[in-house]
Amino acid sequence: MSEPDVSNLLTVAQAIEIIDSVAVSPAIVRVPLAEAQGLFLAEDLVADRDYPPFDKSLMDGYAVRSADVSGSPTELLLVGEIAAGKEWGGMLGSGETVAIMTGASMPGGADGVVPIEETARENDTIRILSADNPGRFIARRGADIRKGEIVLKRGVCLQAAQLAVAATIGAHHVDVHPRVRVAVLATGDELVQVDEFPGGSQIRNSNTPMLVALLRRLGCDVADLGIAADKPEVIRAAIEEGLLHDVLFITGGMSMGAYDYVPRLLKELNLDLKITKLRIKPGKPFVFATGCRLAGISTGEPDEDGRRTKIDFQNQYVFGLPGNPVSGFACAVRFASRLLARLAGGVPDGRCLVARLSVAIPANGPREFYQPAKLSWSAQGLMVAPLPWKGSADLFTLAGADALLVRPENDSAQPIGALVQILEI
Ligand code: AMP
Ligand code: MG
Repeated sequence: MSEPDVSNLLTVAQAIEIIDSVAVSPAIVRVPLAEAQGLFLAEDLVADRDYPPFDKSLMDGYAVRSADVSGSPTELLLVGEIAAGKEWGGMLGSGETVAIMTGASMPGGADGVVPIEETARENDTIRILSADNPGRFIARRGADIRKGEIVLKRGVCLQAAQLAVAATIGAHHVDVHPRVRVAVLATGDELVQVDEFPGGSQIRNSNTPMLVALLRRLGCDVADLGIAADKPEVIRAAIEEGLLHDVLFITGGMSMGAYDYVPRLLKELNLDLKITKLRIKPGKPFVFATGCRLAGISTGEPDEDGRRTKIDFQNQYVFGLPGNPVSGFACAVRFASRLLARLAGGVPDGRCLVARLSVAIPANGPREFYQPAKLSWSAQGLMVAPLPWKGSADLFTLAGADALLVRPENDSAQPIGALVQILEI
């Protein structure tokens, strides 16, 4: 089947350029570290002291003066013990040793550690069986990072390792960008909720649970605005509610059908429709709109210019996704994720991975094509096989996919083993 002319539509690359260039100004909040997982830092975090903070033993063993053990085997006199967290005030003399535990601070006078496995003990006599470069078992104060150095830069996402770093330096509260608050609205007279029984020509709303899951995975706080019937006044009221959130996602009613009211209503609500159609498959009727609303007026202390009245504006962003589930999914993954990353204080990461085809594929048409696909590993590395394409409504195939195979516009047929781009999902 030949496709209609799409040459006047925006390309995927042009759409990404538009979405990446809209202004964002993420708020900043201070939160307890325990609530910061997945959020992006809004400040640089700096080392409060040297790390390690003291010369530290890396082994359970005996602290020694290396000159004493260069001619091992040797015998040393045990004069003390240092557990982790404890200090030993003395100074190690010639011929003496102190038992030391991993993580304990080295005693004065010692410059090496002999692991316990390389020793034998009889009462207070420690026999050093072998001591090969005992200095290597000490981590020197400041060897990892110096006091005052930046340990985490603003814009970093706080996950396990970063939270551990923040805890290490005592950052019990951190400045972060709050979770992006998004709303999801499904539109369509044919839709019923999952716990309702669909009539003969009705279907269950599957887009909302799909988007809620996708958006939560991207770190958003998600509000479900339910289903709006295909009536302009109903959809308009739901959109107005949705616009109170940072980003509104609407599915269905986005194209040219008699009941496709959404683009018109967005215009009526003074939103700027920056994208209304795309040269992408699936997902042609994709809408991206932005606006600005008055969020509040407050009167307080005069600012530098003597103004007392402060007017707050809130940016508005709307993604209008096609009703067909695979289209909505592909557009959310490819486009919306980029803006959400920026609103969260991070940077968009829509990079594709490269994989090898495990089957030959035919030439692609004039739209960039995102085809559900299955990944596997072989001796040649990451392999990908597209799943049979049954159209943009075929959720069942999508549920068995772990990637989208990305086909450039008008790509030629590709043989087995060809390198192709994929988006992990
Ligand atoms: P539309 O974009 O409104 O023209 O819808 C395109 C197709 O997607 C139609 O077959 C709709 O029934 C279907 N559809 C729209 N919204 C949803 C939804 N929330 N869940 C599942 N399918 C939907
Ligand atoms: Mg519809």
